[in-house]
Amino acid sequence: MKFIRYEGKRGTDLGVMTRDESGVVSLRDVLPNKAFADMTRMIEEIRGDELTLLQLVPDGYDKYPVEKLENVRVLAPIEKPVHDVICIGVNYRAHGEETGVIREAKFDQPDPIFFGKRAIRILGSGDEVDFRSDIDPELDYEAELAVIIGKRCKDVAKEDAESVIFGYSVFNDYSSRKLQRQHVQWMRGKSLDTYTAMGPCIVYKSDVAFPPALHICSRLNGEARQDSNTDLLINDIPTLISTISAGLTLEPGDIIATGTPAGVGMGMDPPTYMEHGDTIECEIEGIGTLTNHIK
Ligand code: MG
Repeated sequence: MKFIRYEGKRGTDLGVMTRDESGVVSLRDVLPNKAFADMTRMIEEIRGDELTLLQLVPDGYDKYPVEKLENVRVLAPIEKPVHDVICIGVNYRAHGEETGVIREAKFDQPDPIFFGKRAIRILGSGDEVDFRSDIDPELDYEAELAVIIGKRCKDVAKEDAESVIFGYSVFNDYSSRKLQRQHVQWMRGKSLDTYTAMGPCIVYKSDVAFPPALHICSRLNGEARQDSNTDLLINDIPTLISTISAGLTLEPGDIIATGTPAGVGMGMDPPTYMEHGDTIECEIEGIGTLTNHIK
């Protein structure tokens, strides 16, 4: 079941995609007594029996009005996150090696590297990145699997990690490499306005075997850049959730970006960054493709 947020006939709406992904059914037609303000409220407020009803929609959509996907504008599933995005640094060995963080066998950082990424507004697929080359010309992409938290939780055991997840999305952790070096900590280098994108949908967790082992890749102007699998995470999703939630409350709609595989511009020889006019696509098997244009 793929949830999207979209601009359709009735304005901004939440919906479930049909199985062939040619159309969308509004949640208002399936759950007429519910009005969710946005995706985060939906994740927070929806009940198990309502989710069960929604799970019938992809194959049983003939009961409801369907808007063709080509007639709607797909928006970021979550535009304004409840908190800063929780990001993981160096969580694929090959990426650690290409950036020089992991130097041969001497990498000694068994615990996850967490950092916060501010996003006043998350871009959706099709949206434009406002590239501030005047502040930092070294703009890079990072395709990542995003985990969306489904319930308020704290001190989650590894074996309970899946139960606190709502679903998954494709994430692009745009990075200003010069700012990352300049300020030592990565927060500013990750957080310029429009430098966060997620979409096109959130896949409900039951559609993905746990832990996810999904092909992940990116293309810059159609040229293959990253090509990996989410089963290669150094710290897997149960480890990430149990570690970060120890003494720290996670809330519905919280986003955990699980790290990026090798193939970023910074890892090329010589480093090759994005330019005005570029198109970057990030794709994860079973979720979809997140496409942005660099203005
Ligand atoms: Mg990243």
